[in-house]
Amino acid sequence: MENTELLTILSSPKRIVITTHKNPDGDAMGSSLALCNYLTLKGHNALVITPNEYPDFLDWLPGNSTVKNGKDIPQFAKDRIAEADIIFCLDFNTLSRIDQLAKPVEESTAFKVLIDHHQQPQPFDFMFHNVEASSTCQLVFEFIDMLGDKALINKDIASCLYTGIMTDTGSFKFPSTTAKVHRIIADLIEAGADNSAIHRNVFSAYTENRLKLLGFCIGQKLVVIPEKATAYITLTKEELAKYSFQPGDTEGIVNYPLDIKGIKFSVIFIEREDGIKISFRSVGTFSVNQFSRANFGGGGHDNAAGGQSTLSLQQTVEKFVTLLDTYAADIINS
Ligand code: 5GP
Ligand code: MN
Repeated sequence: MENTELLTILSSPKRIVITTHKNPDGDAMGSSLALCNYLTLKGHNALVITPNEYPDFLDWLPGNSTVKNGKDIPQFAKDRIAEADIIFCLDFNTLSRIDQLAKPVEESTAFKVLIDHHQQPQPFDFMFHNVEASSTCQLVFEFIDMLGDKALINKDIASCLYTGIMTDTGSFKFPSTTAKVHRIIADLIEAGADNSAIHRNVFSAYTENRLKLLGFCIGQKLVVIPEKATAYITLTKEELAKYSFQPGDTEGIVNYPLDIKGIKFSVIFIEREDGIKISFRSVGTFSVNQFSRANFGGGGHDNAAGGQSTLSLQQTVEKFVTLLDTYAADIINS
């Protein structure tokens, strides 16, 4: 589909639903709220519906109070999706990533747009997709620019976009942080994004328990396998309860083992009510997207992916450690 056709569709007020992946992160909420703020400014009736709750450190995002959690109000979510003219799917590549919202979205006759940077996306009516992009927030910036509306990016929109680019690039350090990304960031700061305040809002807003959970993970739960350039952390339900776990508390912990010299592959296994949630991170050429797709029913990016397991925590770790024998050479040489 041509851009002009999308422009025509958006040229009159529409009922729009924006949705994003479950357990939304900074890029998911930043991109969704930036787009929602923009579409509202353009006279549309736009609403963000998430599959479940998201961390408190994102609740300052402009427009946050309008977001609906589809898990709390399933019928409302279904109705709004069913009556939407356009559905924007942000920061995910397959409908299974939005859990219970997948069916209503699939069944809806709305025009469906994907804006995303994950690998191997399923087809949508209109796709604004680039795996090279640092973040979905970068793509939303480029999407607004493509529609000729860069000048409409105000402080609210800029703050949302800055947040997702910042979180998805590991604060501008991953290889995806190109010169173009820095130019976009400069534009966002000029448009009013308060970079210093946003960093504090997101990274220095933890509870005491969260900081102690991080200390516990690194001090007592870290397993390092230097000969395979791998390290991993496990967390049981009981351990999470001891630190009064809140959504978002485990975010980012998986990155710490990569600070050890020689470690190229880091994993965290988290026991949840619905199974084991796994996060994979790598540096170099070892693709955790492929590793997760092949072994843990997940995916994501080459250097950051998620997955899941229905085995027990211990069995999941045993499966993982056994797999390392097969992958060790790839990891070490990456
Ligand atoms: P995280 O480990 O932070 O949950 O996810 C890392 C990256 O992989 C994020 O970009 C996330 O959207 C993606 N991701 C996480 N879990 C899955 C999954 O099960 N399937 C796919 N396709 N992507 C995932
Ligand atoms: Mn993203």
